[in-house]
Amino acid sequence: MTAPYALAAAAPRPALPAPPTLAAVAVWHSLLEERWQQRLSTLTELSLAYHGAAESCGHPAGAAETARLQKLLREATAARRALGETEDALARLTDGSFGRCDQCARPIPTTDLLAEPETRYCAGCVAVSWVALAG
Ligand SMILES: [Zn+2]
Repeated sequence: MTAPYALAAAAPRPALPAPPTLAAVAVWHSLLEERWQQRLSTLTELSLAYHGAAESCGHPAGAAETARLQKLLREATAARRALGETEDALARLTDGSFGRCDQCARPIPTTDLLAEPETRYCAGCVAVSWVALAG
């Protein structure tokens, strides 16, 4: 006999990943800290190169000087963005969301994290977003 007002079976929820161990957090923190230092160093070098080039170019700057300044500025902007991505990953490590997809909350495979520790999405969600962009 079934209850007349039995609730429909709840949809299965995706299993939440186990929280990382303290040792794992320490390893990821160390790796991200090293990447942060490298990215800060790159950004500093590019910023100094840009300002040095800007100070030494003629007024008005020639086409070659302008092109060089624009290239350095693009590279410095990309380096600043990369540094911010590493800072975001460090923040996710602190708040416990590191290693989980921002879209579906599934764990991101360790191999993907090792290749790009700043990644925020699993391969499945990245693929879906590319399909959406292409469509
Ligand atoms: Zn996902």
